[in-house]
Amino acid sequence: MTQIGHGGKTISERVITDVAQVKKRIGGLLQLPISGRAARESIDIAYGFFSPLKGFMGKADVESVCENMTTQDGTLWPIPIVLDVESSVVKDAGLKSGQSIVLTFQHVPLAIMDISEIYSLDKMQLQQSVFGTTDAKHPGVIMYNKLNDTFLAGEITLINSPVFQPPYGQFWYTPLTMREKMAEKGWKRSVAHQTRNVPHSGHEWLMKGAWFSTHGEMPVEKLESGIVVSAIIGPKRAGDYIDEAILIGQQTLQDAGYFRPATHLVSFVMWDMRYAGPREAILHAIIRENLGCTHHMFGRDHAGVGTYYGPYDAHRIFDGLPENSLRIKPVRVLEWWYCPVCGEVTYSGLCGHDDKKQPFSGTLIRSIIQDKVKPTRLIFRPEVFDSLMRCADEYGFGSPFCNETYLEKRQPVFTLSTLD
Ligand SMILES: [Zn+2]
Repeated sequence: MTQIGHGGKTISERVITDVAQVKKRIGGLLQLPISGRAARESIDIAYGFFSPLKGFMGKADVESVCENMTTQDGTLWPIPIVLDVESSVVKDAGLKSGQSIVLTFQHVPLAIMDISEIYSLDKMQLQQSVFGTTDAKHPGVIMYNKLNDTFLAGEITLINSPVFQPPYGQFWYTPLTMREKMAEKGWKRSVAHQTRNVPHSGHEWLMKGAWFSTHGEMPVEKLESGIVVSAIIGPKRAGDYIDEAILIGQQTLQDAGYFRPATHLVSFVMWDMRYAGPREAILHAIIRENLGCTHHMFGRDHAGVGTYYGPYDAHRIFDGLPENSLRIKPVRVLEWWYCPVCGEVTYSGLCGHDDKKQPFSGTLIRSIIQDKVKPTRLIFRPEVFDSLMRCADEYGFGSPFCNETYLEKRQPVFTLSTLD
């Protein structure tokens, strides 16, 4: 069955799994080591997370994305997907447009790239367009400032399928396998919930609210709508929840019955956050559109950082998009909080006890957990807390938060074959 993704284009995987064929294709090709980010994005491209992109963008597409928020052919696209390399490497290796090379990651061949262009970019202009700022403190600007000065464009073919390690393997869905899974569950609608957190009750209610919004018009006989928890797996900073705990904690909400398996699925996407606020919200929508979701939940300050964006800028940007430029609908969510008068977790659009409200504070909950104290079940499910402690022992070197040891010695998310 044909699967249609972003831009109305068929999703096609660009992956060769036959080792003999791979060896034949890469024999004699020059090998170029790439970064973790480039490896993750090569994998994303190959499996169609970035469909209709077939490879890393050329200069004209990057400029079009910056200026018009579309690729040259008019497809909505908010953030350039680029491969940077050191200028000296391009020069020393004599790389040329028209040449095919092997991208390697951790000393193993990962993908073939057919170079279509070698170019440079005005990084300041890039930052201003994507982030709306060139402030050197913005984490996205910091990331772009670290990019090398030369960029390669060209189509990608994955030649080494990543093997996701426990616990990641059970949560790994590509756009095509996710669509199969949704068909199996009988879902006609699905709402994506992006996360980088172990869920507290505020997150739980964000998901529940988004599900109500998505499911409201559906017939009562069957549960044909689901929540797709789509965790972002990428580089970590000290103090973040460890990746394993995020996925297992989200799954625990289902295992402990807070969500039915019939309406809930935990998954992840590999992506290095840019913190580009509204523009990044659109990219997240595109990725989940390719995964087959019909709706995408956006909470307060989605993909934002500091005070660079207004708390609901990422909601508003969808209002101005040309009709039919996205096949996924935003579900705009305000705040869930705890209210002692209502005696429950409630919604900012409903509860009128503004002077009594107790907003969820991720920072406060983290500090309680840091002390290994179990928060009350109204704000943090005890089963999730227990899973967090198990993850701390099993994966986190004693802590559910990233520490130096974890950042240095953590288990890899995926491994690659040596192709022998
Ligand atoms: Zn109230």
